[in-house]
Amino acid sequence: MTETTTILEERKDQIHLTGQGAIDIACNRESLAGAVSQRACVFCGSRVVLYPIADALHLVHGPIGCAVYTWDIRGSLSSGPMLHRLSFSTDLQETDVIFGGEKKLEAALIELIDRHHPNAAFVYSTCIVGIIGDDVEAVCRRVGEQKGIPVLPVQSEGFKGNKRAGYEAACKAMFKLVGTGDVGDVPPVSVNILGDFNLAGEIWIIRDYLERMGVQVVANITGDGRVADIRRCHGAALNLVQCSGATMELAKMMEEQYGTPFERVSYLGIEDMAESLYKVADFFKDKDPGIVERTQKLVKEELERLMPELARYRKDLEGKKVAMYVGGSFKAFSLVKAFRHLGMKVVMVGSQTGTKEDYAELEQITDPGTVIIDDANPLELSHFIKEKDVDVFVGGVKERPIAYKLGVGFCDHNHERKEALEGFVGMLNFAREIHSSAMSPVWRFAPRRANRIAAEKKEAVNE
Ligand code: SF4
Repeated sequence: MTETTTILEERKDQIHLTGQGAIDIACNRESLAGAVSQRACVFCGSRVVLYPIADALHLVHGPIGCAVYTWDIRGSLSSGPMLHRLSFSTDLQETDVIFGGEKKLEAALIELIDRHHPNAAFVYSTCIVGIIGDDVEAVCRRVGEQKGIPVLPVQSEGFKGNKRAGYEAACKAMFKLVGTGDVGDVPPVSVNILGDFNLAGEIWIIRDYLERMGVQVVANITGDGRVADIRRCHGAALNLVQCSGATMELAKMMEEQYGTPFERVSYLGIEDMAESLYKVADFFKDKDPGIVERTQKLVKEELERLMPELARYRKDLEGKKVAMYVGGSFKAFSLVKAFRHLGMKVVMVGSQTGTKEDYAELEQITDPGTVIIDDANPLELSHFIKEKDVDVFVGGVKERPIAYKLGVGFCDHNHERKEALEGFVGMLNFAREIHSSAMSPVWRFAPRRANRIAAEKKEAVNE
């Protein structure tokens, strides 16, 4: 397949090759009709952010298909309540579309609150609710007053924009909780963890590091999240914001209203993990003079365990090629660096929601010729994976079949993963997973790989 048949003319300004002129990539715009975007809708964006709040009720107001779309796509572990693992929908039917769905929503909310006793409820508006004009806010207010818990509307009608708009809707809904709890017992050396979703227990790894440094975590926002913690999170001294888009809006609103500063961090890979911990230590060094030394000791201990193990995997992986397609591009920055430690070469990197600044930073850290792509579709991804002869593709649930159909290894670095990939221990898990996938003998039987291996053997014989 040639590039002309794969890349639509209108999409060409959303693709850039590192080293080929100044980067001016088009991004953060509506997906092109007919291009079958990998992107999720606004509702999905807000649901994935809020869903890990484990003691809240999550009710999707719309047809049943919307609820199925995002149900349980995030493992998001909880150390306590499991209410978030249940999926509720008002299951709007044709008559509700004609006569309105408010009564049904009110009845569903009352029944579910009586049955499950949540500490708060989130009500997600879907496309059809925006079209028929249900007054979701009024219903939520009425039920909240009646039941004595916060019932929060999430303005997440799917057609309102792209996934990034969903993040903002989630942050706006959550912000209504912030500032409503008692902060009397919050210590001065304290943080909130924003933008980690505890897919496979990562929050617990990071909390352990912070505790060893002497820093108390007030709220996880939102992995393993609790309503009461979010209510008092404005008492923390610092917000640590991971992920480029998901919770940045909340951090900005908290800075404006409560004066809580924020630091952008990443817990992926060696440098970014260590740098994030040092940022925290630096922030608190006046309040706690021993914190820098404790952090150095922690990083040293962890690296002494990690580095010899990584060296073993690197021997096999050296020179192999990687493509990645992620939700937020902030994750891609850390992954590019993590792959360097494994001796691997990143040849394509793309994201659903990257900004111009994100892509400019990616250009800085990738090798000449690397494809940088915004809001890609399956045909484009397949095209570049084949053209660059990739060994491992890193992505999420929608990218997995692309890799397997093309006969290349795959690493799930998104919602569905079951292995913790953050922290120093996560870097080791990551290396192990990449190694298992890239080195699997199964690729010898996939047609494209088999052809390449046969060609390499023939070449070796001829030499
Ligand atoms: S685009 Fe609209 S109809 Fe489709 S899942 Fe999202 S909210 Fe539901």
